Amino acid sequence: MNIPDDKELEKIYKRKERNIRKYKPQRGEYWSFEDFKEWYKEKYSNDPVCFYCKIPENIIEKIYWDIRHTKRPRTRIKLEIERLDPFDNYNKKNAVLACFNCNNSKSDILLCEEFKAIGKIIEKIWKAIAKKNGVVY
Ligand SMILES: [Zn+2]
Repeated sequence: MNIPDDKELEKIYKRKERNIRKYKPQRGEYWSFEDFKEWYKEKYSNDPVCFYCKIPENIIEKIYWDIRHTKRPRTRIKLEIERLDPFDNYNKKNAVLACFNCNNSKSDILLCEEFKAIGKIIEKIWKAIAKKNGVVY
């Protein structure tokens, strides 16, 4: 698993920061770049998976690119940085990685606990697509 260099990480960090300035969470401060870097490197120290449906990032790429032939840019099928509690800011305790499907379904309304059951359904759907196409994970 290759972790982006500091310059690339800084781009990701600043993009999120610009976004959060627009939709200011009710609680918490935006994490420092050092915290973000540490969090990111830890998440990517092993094959990262979606927090909710557990799909590994490399399997998402297989399904989107090889099976479903998406037109979506490659950067848009990576796991996304998601907040467990959408009313709290990005920080090491509140941020997890989530697949595009989970992140979009959860949106900024549902809390982590409220979304768990939906995550399990998305897990079943991913697994069925993978199995049908001979992809094992
Ligand atoms: Zn997911």
